[in-house]
Amino acid sequence: MSELRDLYQEVILDHNRHPRNFGSLEEASHEADGFNPLCGDKIHVHLLVDGDRITDIRFEGSGCAISTASASVMTELLKGKTLEEAKALFHTFHDLVTGKTDGDLATLGKLAVFAGVSEFPVRVKCATLCWHTTQAALDKSADAVSTE
Ligand code: ZN
Repeated sequence: MSELRDLYQEVILDHNRHPRNFGSLEEASHEADGFNPLCGDKIHVHLLVDGDRITDIRFEGSGCAISTASASVMTELLKGKTLEEAKALFHTFHDLVTGKTDGDLATLGKLAVFAGVSEFPVRVKCATLCWHTTQAALDKSADAVSTE
């Protein structure tokens, strides 16, 4: 696991310093706010959905390195995916960070580095905030999401 741990550090640092898809999206069709009071992470996710496909996704906000890196990796993964694929990824990610996965980490690509988060329960909410917020935006069920 030490290789994965090194990769984890590397991906978190890289995506925290240079978040991908950071900013607003004027033509967004879906959006939602998320807040993790335990850590103070705030996020706003904008999505542009065309039919059943996520054609663009951006995020804004401020938070710890893990919340920012997780959102950055998430936007990379979700862009171009169908809503069905996005939902499947959400479940995969959630199982991964809560240590419930018995799947092959090698098939998870960049997501696999977040397996390290399962060792730090307090960080799980940091890592999943962006995913919960995206789900809420797609469901249009809530104006604001709180992990509490
Ligand atoms: Zn955090």
